[in-house]
Amino acid sequence: MSAFLEATDLRRTYRMGDSEVRALDGVTLSIEAGEFVSIVGPSGCGKSSLLQVLGLLDRPDGGSYTIDGRNVFALRDQALSDLRSRHLAFIFQFFNLLPRTDALRNVELPLLYQGLPSSVSRERALQALSSVELEHRKTHTPAELSGGEQQRVAIARALASHPRVVFADEPTGNLNSEQAEEMLDRLLELNRRGITVLLVTHDERVASRAPRRIRMLDGKIISDEGLAQRATPEQFEAQLIARLTLSLSPKFKENARSAAVSLRANLLRTCLAMLGVVVGTASLITMMAVGAGARAQARERIEKLGANLLMLLPDRGKGENGAAPTRLNLEDADALAALSSGGLGLKRVNPVIVLPGVTVARGAASTAARILGTSSQHASMHESQPSIGRYFTPGANKRLEKVCVLGAGVARILFPDPASALGETVKLRGQHFQVVGILPPQGASGTSDLDQQVLIPVRTAMKRLANRKTMSYLEIEMSGPDSENAIRAKVRSVLRHRHKIPEFRGDGFKLRSLSRIQEALSGVAKTLSILLGVVAATSLLVGGIGIMNIMLVSVRERTREIGLRKAMGARKSDVLIQFLLESAAIGLMGGLVGILLGLLTSHFSGNATGWRILIEPHSLLWAAVFSFLTGVLSGFWPAYQASELEPARALRFE
Ligand code: ADP
Ligand code: MG
Repeated sequence: MSAFLEATDLRRTYRMGDSEVRALDGVTLSIEAGEFVSIVGPSGCGKSSLLQVLGLLDRPDGGSYTIDGRNVFALRDQALSDLRSRHLAFIFQFFNLLPRTDALRNVELPLLYQGLPSSVSRERALQALSSVELEHRKTHTPAELSGGEQQRVAIARALASHPRVVFADEPTGNLNSEQAEEMLDRLLELNRRGITVLLVTHDERVASRAPRRIRMLDGKIISDEGLAQRATPEQFEAQLIARLTLSLSPKFKENARSAAVSLRANLLRTCLAMLGVVVGTASLITMMAVGAGARAQARERIEKLGANLLMLLPDRGKGENGAAPTRLNLEDADALAALSSGGLGLKRVNPVIVLPGVTVARGAASTAARILGTSSQHASMHESQPSIGRYFTPGANKRLEKVCVLGAGVARILFPDPASALGETVKLRGQHFQVVGILPPQGASGTSDLDQQVLIPVRTAMKRLANRKTMSYLEIEMSGPDSENAIRAKVRSVLRHRHKIPEFRGDGFKLRSLSRIQEALSGVAKTLSILLGVVAATSLLVGGIGIMNIMLVSVRERTREIGLRKAMGARKSDVLIQFLLESAAIGLMGGLVGILLGLLTSHFSGNATGWRILIEPHSLLWAAVFSFLTGVLSGFWPAYQASELEPARALRFE
């Protein structure tokens, strides 16, 4: 039967450039459960290297090692970490306590990595602290404790996990002789309770107190004195660990706590790392607010224009199959209006002539406006009733009366007091038109300013102002969007018939729904959104790189801490999660600050530009999600590096 710890021909070689150091040069040894062994030798002879291999902190280049007959180097990271946290404990020369963490939490650390419920680990940690008479110092951080006290905390930490083996590497190295004596007494006491102790020291006097003494020189064992003392079965029983249900939450809490501690300790750095994410999230919010505002505005406009309007206009593009633009006339409008009784869902037809850039004058005042020759149906089809006066009547149209309805903008320019405008005349292309109504302000619709319009009867426009028969377009009102396809087909066949378009020719006219035109017009807002989106993506990327950079620095700075956590039984995944939490927290905090900033910028940019700004709740959620993801993604590489650190190497790191 093999011994408790059985190492055969262990080899460990370090390469430093061209030179090689054989720290372990064929070490064979077996240790029984319950022994107290000291390993002594001059500095640099390989004692620490041996202890780290035996303590599963390092892998040798050659040789084999079994614990309880199990080949431990065949174990995967998880099993190895579990073995470390449940059965092995370490005491180091430089105590290796977590800074900024109080004594109690330091003692608790290996228990958390065992996955014990926090009530159990708290209880055990308190017990361990009181067994080294330090209960009254439990809230002190290492910096607030003396060297001797720090080493007692380290002993308590080793005790708390109820280990089977304690590995102590020069535990008295930083203590005065009195404290060193006390330390040794405590280790001997542990051994009497059945725990196997391996004590590494360069101090002969310390070594001589161990029942068994192994002497090393240049990576080899040169002597092995003293008898193996075994623990009695009863003693051994006492240290068997009760198997407790695993729970993730205390471990998670420890990860979250350590992330918070580290972020707070490097506050300025944390804030700088957040900056990119702040800018990114703020532009994201602004982008979405502008986009949503523009969409809402477009939607409103469509409603104002009538979502159920179709626009029939001559196709001035390159006619399909030699089609010429169809000249639409009033008779076409009448013919189409006649379809309203056909049950198609076609309600009304309104013929329109547009005369752009016509000068409207009154006395010395004048302005350029769009003249719209239209019918009296215009008011109800566009839901725009005059706020002053009325629309012209169907009769006015028939009699070619020179009457007009002014847009709010035109009225404001020509009449200091618009209320007195009714009955007055304005001059259009040298002819006097009587003002019968003034429209309320409507703002811009895409490229045209609805307030800079003058509405006159369409026949007056044809006969008296423009001398033309062709309409600019016909507006067709549908009862609802469902009838659009049937109406399109019917209008097409009626028009082709009326204009005698041969079968092989294209239409020469086209039908557009106003809602689609509006969608195209909101493209300006879309372009702006895309621009801001690029800014947002770039800053998030830059922010991510910033976080990654800072996390890499943080991992490097805390190499020792990572090594220690691993020695205490932290798995790769624990270290990974700890650092990911940290970067995710930076990302998320940056995101929250960015959201606030974004709300402010969208508010002020809305005020400054007059654009509609609309903050949709889901945009806040997206911003938070994106910033969180930025943190996680950019933290992954540093966190992975941290998780892959070799504990032995990390512990030696200065
Ligand atoms: P001891 O603990 O007995 O003082 P160590 O086991 O720490 O000795 O080191 C044994 C030898 O291996 C020393 O010469 C040391 O410089 C070398 N060594 C230890 N760790 C490393 C390392 N990570 N890289 C290079 N050389 C190392
Ligand atoms: Mg050493």
